[in-house]
Amino acid sequence: MFPQLLLNCMYPTLYINCRINEELCGKCCYDTKMPLTKRDVERIKKIGYPEEYFVDRRGRIPRLKNMKGHCVFLDPRTNACIIYPDRPEGCRLYPLIYDEEKDSIVVDPLCPKAHVVPHKLIIELSSALLSLIDRLRNEYLRSR
Ligand code: SF4
Repeated sequence: MFPQLLLNCMYPTLYINCRINEELCGKCCYDTKMPLTKRDVERIKKIGYPEEYFVDRRGRIPRLKNMKGHCVFLDPRTNACIIYPDRPEGCRLYPLIYDEEKDSIVVDPLCPKAHVVPHKLIIELSSALLSLIDRLRNEYLRSR
């Protein structure tokens, strides 16, 4: 099996067309607060990025770093993700997010394509996001 197919099997992904008027949107990659699992950190290190370059460890959970207001992996000229095949698990499930106040999975209303996410996909991928949140809690919060 090709490595990319293997990755796609391992990490559930929500595919939507992120283009608006033929241009990539990229809005979710500006001022990112995307959390990183241990697997995310290891996978991205394996493709050559040192941890200090992309991991922000100032909070209780490590998150992607921003540079000049956007994720270090966003090419602002094209709004493309330069590590797309290896992007974090949370990026793969976006625009599904966990709403702490509602204690439920929702489609991020800030995403300009929120309205095109089929209900079927929300149902199918909600359990993947819940399990990702649970893993992050186990990895970083419960052990302290
Ligand atoms: S890793 Fe890629 S998809 Fe995720 S926030 Fe950064 S640029 Fe966007």
